[in-house]
Amino acid sequence: MMGEGMEEEWVVSVLRKCSNLKQTKQIHGHILKSGLRTDPFVFGKLLLHCAVSISDALHYSLRLFHHFPNPDTFMHNTLIRGLSLSQTPLLSLHPFIQLRRQPSLSPDSFSFAFVLKGVANSRQLRPGIQLHSQALHHGFDTHIFVGTTLISMYAECGDSVSARRVFDKMSEPNVVAWNAAVTASFRCGDVEGAGDVFGRMPLRNLTSWNVMLAGYAKAGELGLARRVFCDMPLRDEVSWSTMIIGFAHNGCFDEAFGFFRELLREGIGTNEVSLTGVLSACAQAGAFEFGKILHGFVEKAGFLCVGSVNNALIDTYSKCGNVAMARLVFQNMPGARSIVSWTAIIAGLAMHGYGEEAIQLFHEMEESGVRPDGITFISLLYACSHSGLVEEGYVFFSKMKNLYGIEPAIEHYGCMVDLYGRAARLQKAYEFICEMPVSPNAIIWRTLLGACSIHGNIELAELVKARLAEMDPGNSGDHVLLSNVYAVAGKWKDVASIRRTMTEHSMKKTPGRSMIEIDKAIYCFVAGEKPNEVTKEAHEKLREIMLRLRAEAGYAPQLRSVLHDIEEEEKEDSVSKHSEKLAAAFGIAKLPKGRILRIVKNLRVCGDCHTVMKLISKIYRVEIIVRDRSRFHSFKDGFCSCRDYW
Ligand code: ZN
Ligand code: ZN
Repeated sequence: MMGEGMEEEWVVSVLRKCSNLKQTKQIHGHILKSGLRTDPFVFGKLLLHCAVSISDALHYSLRLFHHFPNPDTFMHNTLIRGLSLSQTPLLSLHPFIQLRRQPSLSPDSFSFAFVLKGVANSRQLRPGIQLHSQALHHGFDTHIFVGTTLISMYAECGDSVSARRVFDKMSEPNVVAWNAAVTASFRCGDVEGAGDVFGRMPLRNLTSWNVMLAGYAKAGELGLARRVFCDMPLRDEVSWSTMIIGFAHNGCFDEAFGFFRELLREGIGTNEVSLTGVLSACAQAGAFEFGKILHGFVEKAGFLCVGSVNNALIDTYSKCGNVAMARLVFQNMPGARSIVSWTAIIAGLAMHGYGEEAIQLFHEMEESGVRPDGITFISLLYACSHSGLVEEGYVFFSKMKNLYGIEPAIEHYGCMVDLYGRAARLQKAYEFICEMPVSPNAIIWRTLLGACSIHGNIELAELVKARLAEMDPGNSGDHVLLSNVYAVAGKWKDVASIRRTMTEHSMKKTPGRSMIEIDKAIYCFVAGEKPNEVTKEAHEKLREIMLRLRAEAGYAPQLRSVLHDIEEEEKEDSVSKHSEKLAAAFGIAKLPKGRILRIVKNLRVCGDCHTVMKLISKIYRVEIIVRDRSRFHSFKDGFCSCRDYW
């Protein structure tokens, strides 16, 4: 038998090593049998362990709490803290109220800080204001710890004025409070105010600089972010990742890559956050060559054992048009593959139209004992719809709910409508929407309208358009879709009338934008943009290509072929200037023979561009891979991998 103090220490040290509820319950059993069952120190530690340290044990900590006679302030605080970090943060108010009602106890600064955090996480201003007045009553409002959480709470609830007022009332704010005030301004969208507070800070730590950097990057103020980055006395991994990811998310891929190169040059260790960040930039930009270099780097730097980096590589290769490499990365992954990895490869195969392979991998995943989640099913249904596998898609949709107990979300219903719509089963798609247990959103109706436009069903298109007009009247894309339905049927009067409505309501169309990677630099072409050196060269080359296509392949522009041009892009007058044509022409001019042209387009490829790409691939003996908004097209020898089904 150990001495009492020793036994306490022993229990606490063993508890610290427990990583799950099962082990913790065993220790609890031991405590109950020993003389420590009413020891507040040991019990407090046990409660903290369940409520905060391990996951999925919050419910157990609630039970423990209710069975302990006379819990003290620390125990109440522990429960408040655990609940504030849970999925239901507002419930942290309950133990706080209970604590206030205890005649022998009173809330301390920790009680207020934790419960304010819970309110901030639930973004409920009203209880926040009440807590503020109670803090005032207890004299905690100027307490540095409580004050800082008050600032964050007001910021999370969108009340920048109150956040500022609390800050200004602090007599001697420390650097944490200053940082909270900067974050609060950014959180409320007050970029200028954040700069102002930052400028007045008497003392800054690295966190302060990183807060500024992240705030500017998130607000899209990249010039300001760059200035802070240059000015900061010390840069750590967080600063570098913030720049890389910030620039990538704002579409400035060149700069993002530039920062990554600089990071390597400076000999600063990289981490998985910046690596996955820069890989996702590659994926978005379709920068295959740069992605390959990164892959080499990942291998050398020993990151191939990190799951998230592998997943990012799979995604990058898929989105850069090389699904074979994506598969290779997947096959060579060390250790067990997570659901994220399986979903990434299934999505990759789906994008490229390898529906059957995607389904096969799904079955392999099931056999390996990994449970699919809702996102896996989205990829799988997408795979079915892009390969015309209607029956299979329906089977998976049922299986998702019946076998795996996953309630279909609006996205899954959208996939099913797309599945029926693409396969020309428009009536079935319409009935499916009408029978949905959740009310369809504009995206669902738009999917059906798109299908109507492809398959030329005027009656249904008009009905659907009427629904959309109620839900989202200002959407130019819907007007274009309907006008395409009329155009296919040769109803030019109706086409003209829609065009008029759009001009009258000055509806803007999304400009087409295509990117191509040449020598690891990304070139971007936007339909209708002002000419510059690069676009001039592209236009010149395109003229030459078109002449050759006319002469050698009898090409004639499909001005009225709007069949697939179902998106927002302008047609007749500018069909020859579509951005993907310019990108392809520039690629032909710049890339050495034998290299694949990889183009990323923000909208769907139109029928005319699709034909032109096929002809270019044949006459110039070049492989072109185009990723448009919904899938990949791989053009070779005059054919496309989509078999003209997109
Ligand atoms: Zn086009
Ligand atoms: Zn195609």
